[in-house]
Amino acid sequence: MASQEIEALTGALARLPGLGPRSARRAVLWLLKRRETALDQLVAALAAVQERLVECATCGNVDTSDPCGVCADPRRDARSLCVVEDVPDLWALDRARLFPGRYHVLGGRLSALDGVRPEDLTIDLLIERVAKGGIDEVVLAMNATLEGQTTAHYLAERLEGYPIRITQLAHGLPVGGELDYLDEGTLAQAIRARRPVG
Ligand SMILES: [Zn+2]
Repeated sequence: MASQEIEALTGALARLPGLGPRSARRAVLWLLKRRETALDQLVAALAAVQERLVECATCGNVDTSDPCGVCADPRRDARSLCVVEDVPDLWALDRARLFPGRYHVLGGRLSALDGVRPEDLTIDLLIERVAKGGIDEVVLAMNATLEGQTTAHYLAERLEGYPIRITQLAHGLPVGGELDYLDEGTLAQAIRARRPVG
């Protein structure tokens, strides 16, 4: 029987996406056997992130600085804005540098079922960014789910009348596909073949 501390660690790890109690126990054992190397490293990395974690006030990305690394990067094309549902989508698109512009994180998707309304997302902030000017294209990179597409439709309506091109990801995306789970080739294809909304 493991100590209370080890049980607590196992329980915390078991709550991580993709891990269950069994994998968590294996991970804990693995870490305990590598105290000097892996465990110390993990503790230091977690502490550093915990201490410096902030949400970017501009785009909603999660990073250790505000503005985040993407918003602060002068090599990014400020005239293109890619709207995503959540931070993992931004990271997925950004991993392979698929999109040269900046991002806007909505913080979710519209959902009648879950009671998510427009005011629960950062839509007003998005409109503000566009209204300020200097943006030529807004790419709606919602997931290929019913709710994702409803959200894209709603955004396209709200953005109507601004002097911008509104595009969305090409539908090479599998139906029900969540960006975070797609391979980079599929994502790159969806970005490259993006098309006007409407
Ligand atoms: Zn940012």
